[in-house]
Amino acid sequence: MTGWDTNLDRVLGGKTAKALNSSFGMSTVGDLLRHYPRRYAERGELTAIGGLEIGEHATVLARVERVGKRKMRSRRGTILQARITDGSRSMSCTFFNQAWRERELLPGRTGMFAGKVTAYRNELQLAHPEYQLFTEEEEADAHDAARDFAAALIPVYPAAQGLPSWSLARCVAQVLDGWQGVEDPLPESLRERVGLLGLNQALHWIHRPDGTNQVDEARHRLKWDEALGVQLSLARSRLRQDERPAPACPPIDGGVRADFDRRLPFALTEGQVEVGEQLAADLSERHPMNRLVQGEVGSGKTVVALRAMLQVVDSGRQAAMLAPTEVLAAQHARSLRELLGELARAGEFDSPEHATRVTLLTGSLSAAQRKQALLDAASGAAGIVVGTHALIQDQVSFADLGLVVVDEQHRFGVEQRDALRGRAAEQACPHLLVMTATPIPRTVAMTVFGDLRTSALRELPRGRSPISTTVVPAAEKPAWLDRVWQRVTEEVTAGRQVYVVCPRVGDGTVVDSEGSSRSGGESADGEVVPEAVDDPPGGAEGNGSRRSPLAVVELAERLRQGPLRDLRLGALHGRLAADDKDAVMRRFAAGELDVLVATTVIEVGVDVPNASTMVIMDADRFGMSQLHQLRGRVGRGSAPGLCLLVTEAVPQTPARGRLDAVASTTDGFELARLDLLQRREGDVLGEAQSGTKSALRMLSLVHDEEVIAEAGGEAEAVVRQDPELRAHPGLAGMITELLAEERAEFLEKS
Ligand code: ADP
Ligand code: MG
Repeated sequence: MTGWDTNLDRVLGGKTAKALNSSFGMSTVGDLLRHYPRRYAERGELTAIGGLEIGEHATVLARVERVGKRKMRSRRGTILQARITDGSRSMSCTFFNQAWRERELLPGRTGMFAGKVTAYRNELQLAHPEYQLFTEEEEADAHDAARDFAAALIPVYPAAQGLPSWSLARCVAQVLDGWQGVEDPLPESLRERVGLLGLNQALHWIHRPDGTNQVDEARHRLKWDEALGVQLSLARSRLRQDERPAPACPPIDGGVRADFDRRLPFALTEGQVEVGEQLAADLSERHPMNRLVQGEVGSGKTVVALRAMLQVVDSGRQAAMLAPTEVLAAQHARSLRELLGELARAGEFDSPEHATRVTLLTGSLSAAQRKQALLDAASGAAGIVVGTHALIQDQVSFADLGLVVVDEQHRFGVEQRDALRGRAAEQACPHLLVMTATPIPRTVAMTVFGDLRTSALRELPRGRSPISTTVVPAAEKPAWLDRVWQRVTEEVTAGRQVYVVCPRVGDGTVVDSEGSSRSGGESADGEVVPEAVDDPPGGAEGNGSRRSPLAVVELAERLRQGPLRDLRLGALHGRLAADDKDAVMRRFAAGELDVLVATTVIEVGVDVPNASTMVIMDADRFGMSQLHQLRGRVGRGSAPGLCLLVTEAVPQTPARGRLDAVASTTDGFELARLDLLQRREGDVLGEAQSGTKSALRMLSLVHDEEVIAEAGGEAEAVVRQDPELRAHPGLAGMITELLAEERAEFLEKS
């Protein structure tokens, strides 16, 4: 009898099972049945060729238009070329040394063609695709057709070389024919309340639907399963965390925190006060705080975090602050020391009674410095230790770590957060405060960050200058670009400073590709890491072949020779040695440089109030949230901020649309929502580096907010009543399955 765990070779034979395993990593019947169709083609309808993406593995329903063959000049052999059409546009399929196919690829016949979409001389192509032509009966009468084509809807599966969609459909059909079904993990009461199909029904309908209604119902049910699995596991992990012991650090009168508050040169915003109170209360508990604070760039998160850290210091414990890059860690240490003033000078002559010490611990310290820093952490002399994420991997020992603050952490996943919390597992678990400047859309907060409780700082401190943003279409209006450099010069003449941001480091050593500079494609130090693509870029938005994006090294040189020759320029990027980075940043902060040409290393945290203007080159290569973060670096002083988005993107393309949206609003929460709508799912999850990725086949963080929220409510209620899910074996099984996949994914990565 075929069940969920039956090996595929028992049902499909060794050869097919092996192919499925090597292409998709499937080994059981369950794996195959969870390989859902990506979409459904309607019989008789042809696939719109204009909608194909270059590089995708596509299954195209099309009609053969004409076929021709010629001799290859360079080698012996023939090329057979078939043009296939959707009725309006056509593309070509090329076969080498397969002239016999001429006899079956007859003009007028329709069929499915599968292969990788490429572009050659501005034309779409499928190179030696696999295909299956419909038989005459199939074409004449859908109902008489062979089994694979029996339904009105043809499932289109994510396919691979050698395993086209129709082969997958055949495998699934073979499995479903012998399928006795499995027990439904969802309690019937829940299914009825929410209105969900039974699991077996859903599996049949998703693979072999009779109509789109069946597809919709099946999808809804399968999405629910995924959402509920994730939510149950999060609800349980929240509950477990809530039960762990943590050092209670109630606020005290007359400590360093009170002293700090008294010395603050500004009044806290309402949001800072409110979030501050939440944190103070969380830290007073005997169980760990697990909180995410979201706040616009410049909303004053650092002060909020510092006050929480001081509360912990007041109770005789230490706080660690982690940043994604060494530049940022150094910057944090500097700004914490500045904010603290005398209060950071414990042990020095004349320092105030409650003073503490801020210690920077990064990889680029000299051996002696490092030794001292480690000593300060271990002895407790440092109340606050600032470092990069490596701080937690490096087994640095603390005298008594009470709080971990993770700043700008959208590249920091659930697993790493667990590692953090697990650090002192045998004793108490430190409190955790996570801060992000990228507002997180609700669905992402509920899943990827679902192990945290969230707060938001929605207002900016008073007196913050407004930022105006303008798109500069350099291709259409080259004169505007000259005007940009003029404007930069004017700002500098007026005593202010300017950032110029480029998507790439330069020096020619980095291979570049289109779209590589989205925040998803970045390494931990904020540097752009392009992914290689085999196909020439440019097809996607009809730009023709695009030049490679501007690079810091080259642009800095060009500006130095040309339009900005009278100004003091510096260049900053992730490939500089840490000391050099730090030196450049320090000179810019001190006003010794007028213009800083940089990569996105300046994206987060950098704070130079005198910088009033930011020019972002090739702005279309950045994601919307990233642009928003970047521009938050200006307008921090008294002068109004100005952000110029220079682009060669063609008007009315999605790329230009994104830039127009960024120019149209300064509301980060709104932009985060728009940004999410623009992205592909993988980007969202990839960025969060979450193991959740593999578990979500059907559920979309972009589109399924309602299901996610509803399932979240159910999960919370079930877990509160029955934390170990003893009365709900089906649900417990869903978690086990989910965790097994996460573990598999995690192992693959490491
Ligand atoms: P971010 O949320 O981007 O980390 P910061 O904490 O770096 O923001 O704050 C940006 C700047 O605003 C800093 O110079 C900080 O000292 C200042 N600041 C923070 N809170 C206030 C406030 N309530 N009033 C005035 N300035 C503030
Ligand atoms: Mg900050």
